[in-house]
Order: sequence, then C-alpha cells, then structure tokens
Amino acid sequence: MNDEASALLELQKIDLDLMRAHAQLGAMPQTERLAAVAQAKKKLSAELKHVIGLRKDIETDIAEMRELHAGYEQEQRAVRSSITEHGRSYKEVQALDAKLSLLAKQLEKLEFKRGPLLEKLAKAEEAEKKLKALGSKLLADEEALRRSFDQDSAEIQASIGRLGDDRADVISRISDDVCKRYAIAFKRFSGLAVERLAGNVPSACRVKLQADAYRDLERGPVISECPYCHRMLVREEP
Ligand SMILES: [Zn+2]
Repeated sequence: MNDEASALLELQKIDLDLMRAHAQLGAMPQTERLAAVAQAKKKLSAELKHVIGLRKDIETDIAEMRELHAGYEQEQRAVRSSITEHGRSYKEVQALDAKLSLLAKQLEKLEFKRGPLLEKLAKAEEAEKKLKALGSKLLADEEALRRSFDQDSAEIQASIGRLGDDRADVISRISDDVCKRYAIAFKRFSGLAVERLAGNVPSACRVKLQADAYRDLERGPVISECPYCHRMLVREEP
C-alpha cells in the first residue's frame, strides 16, 4: 500500500472518529436543553415585541387624549370669559351656554375613557415587566447550561481539536484528486466512503468480487472504486 492509500484510510478513520465525537456532543443532555432555551427565547422575544407595541399604542392614545382634554379646557375658559363680556345679547349668551355644555359633555366622555385606558396601560406594563424578568431568567439558564456543557464536554472538545490537527496532517499527504473523490463519496455514503480490499471481499459492502473484476482491480491503481457499492476501494497488498 502506498503512502497516499494509507493516508486515505487514516483520513477515513479520523472522520469517523470526528462524527462519533460530534454525535456525542449532540447527545449530551445540555444540548437538548440549550435548544429548548433557544426556542423559548425566540418565543419570548416575539411576545415581548407584541406587548411593547401594544404599550406604545396605548401611550399614544393617552397622549392624544390629554391633548384633546387640554384643548377642550382651553376652549371652555375662552367661552367663559367671552360670556361675561358686556353687551352680549340673550341669543349670544344662549349660544355660548350651549357650547359650554357641549364642551362639558366632551370632557366627561374623555374622563370616561381615561380609566379603562390607564388600566390597559398598567396591564401592558405588567406583562412587559414579567416577560423581561423571564428573559433574564432564560439568559441565566442558558449561561449555566453552557458552562456545564463546556465542563462536561471538555474531553470530547479536546479530542475534536486533536483529530482536526491530525486530519490536516493526513490531508497534506493526499492528492487533490483523491481528496475530491473522497469528499464526494463521504457525502454520498454518509461518512463511510472508503473500504479495504483484503482477499476478494471489500470490507464495507462485503460483496465477493467476481474473478475478472478482482483481476482488473489487482492490475489497477491502489486506490480505485468498488464495482458494487462504488465506495473508494483501497487494495491491501500483501
Ligand atoms: Zn463495495
């Protein structure tokens, strides 16, 4: 077996080890809980956005109401002073009186709306406060989970680091063409891209080679392709 072929087999082993290590990380209990926290944060952020929008709408309504109120009161004052002016006819006074009573009704109407609106505002503010508190709690949970994850996974993370270094080293011993073929087969066979041929049975698909196919492989390059499953095939020479 040449150096490239043995490097290819090493690469396959390293990648399978990496897949195993990542699967172990994925299977850690913190991973699932972190995903749940992320989901909860997303939901909360949408709810918070809704509640803040609601609160701002209510605040706008209240501000508009206050402005209207001030306007009516100003008008009221103006009519009152105008009514006491000398020389007003009875008809004029009557019209101004009617205006005053209309303004009083309008002010009363506003007063009637004020209570429920303030109540709504208090409710929205309370909901916002609660959601924000929940958000802080989720952040704290997330941080604690991350710390625990880092602690429990330190060994796996370290081995992933070492495997990454080894991988770079091994890749440097393999030609670009073989690397490309490996990448394609790795994807196609979900990781198990390379098989060995010792005797006339490939190690992964285990389909016994016909005599002529075996002869062709023997005469061909050390790294070829399995005629049955089409994985990369490394011939182990005696
Ligand atoms: Zn095969």
